[in-house]
Amino acid sequence: MTREDYERRMRRAGRAAADAGLAGLIVTPGPDLAWLCGYQPPVTERLTALLLRPDERPVLVVPALERPDAERSPAGGAMEMAGWRDGEDPYAVMARRLAHQGRYGISDAAWAMHLLGLQRTLPQVSYTSLTEGLPMLRAVKDEHEVALLAAAGQAADATYEDILKVPFAGRRESDVAADLARLLREHGHSQVDFTIVGSGPNGANPHHEASDRVIEDGDMVVLDFGGLKDGYGSDTTRTVHVGEPTAEERKVHDIVREAQQAAFEAVRPGAACQEIDRVARKVIKAAGYGEYFIHRTGHGIGVTTHEPPYMVEGEHLPLVPGMCFSIEPGIYLPGRFGVRIEDIVTCTETGGRRLNNTPREMGIVG
Ligand code: ZN
Ligand code: ZN
Ligand code: ZN
Repeated sequence: MTREDYERRMRRAGRAAADAGLAGLIVTPGPDLAWLCGYQPPVTERLTALLLRPDERPVLVVPALERPDAERSPAGGAMEMAGWRDGEDPYAVMARRLAHQGRYGISDAAWAMHLLGLQRTLPQVSYTSLTEGLPMLRAVKDEHEVALLAAAGQAADATYEDILKVPFAGRRESDVAADLARLLREHGHSQVDFTIVGSGPNGANPHHEASDRVIEDGDMVVLDFGGLKDGYGSDTTRTVHVGEPTAEERKVHDIVREAQQAAFEAVRPGAACQEIDRVARKVIKAAGYGEYFIHRTGHGIGVTTHEPPYMVEGEHLPLVPGMCFSIEPGIYLPGRFGVRIEDIVTCTETGGRRLNNTPREMGIVG
């Protein structure tokens, strides 16, 4: 990413804000800031904020002591630096560079104290969450970003191929989770965000992480893992079985696999996000397990592992080529076991393309 790439992103974001009826954007440290200008300062109580207004030079409000770092960041030369010193009012510094009316999009994770400071200083201005105001800001990936997501997906796939060879029976979930984390790093991840190992009844809890439960012969085991490689996310789920599965376990797994496939085949430009969810849910419902599919079908992925757009009932956003998101239906039988299958998929002009490509059949482990 060059300075020009970041300048283009900031310019586009400013225009998109105007198109969305916003006076501008206020972006505090986090994934949006890193994506827009490549600057990743420490998150502290001292206010740092990027101000984007349509067709105006971006302004970075920055604590004076961090200004040298900000200037050296990839797009440092493309932004006006508005430094403020301890004892000065940073909100007044911001107010001098914002229109005193209209509505601004502000980072979802901006600290309440900063928003309250702004509201006090500019009482006529209103605010909306950046995700609500501009849900498409980072949703459509360019070719370079899709390539990075595909590389992260390949590393996750290699991790899955390797985990099939480790012993499961007689080891704790947390041991297998540690193996997953080590393998993700060995395959190039710089950050591991989650390593879910849900064995037996724990698999019926979709966000169970990993416990000291000892995995037994006959257990279904949900493996859901991912993180960041070269700044872009991976997130994949496969469900394996220790030894030979029962007929019922096979059946439930087949239903989830069929739902995942149907939802994948529904991916095409113009389809609403909720359509992807509906297609997956329809398959599971028709098989009689509708009440056991207890979460949305997917989420976007990019410089974070969970972000808009969401594949959920009520989300009318149309799919656009370049969007990248998970398709991850599941069935969770309380007290017994769970099954989930998850791939990252990108929407292309002609349909979906999977960025995870390990077999979706039930893996058999020892
Ligand atoms: Zn079993
Ligand atoms: Zn996942
Ligand atoms: Zn996911």
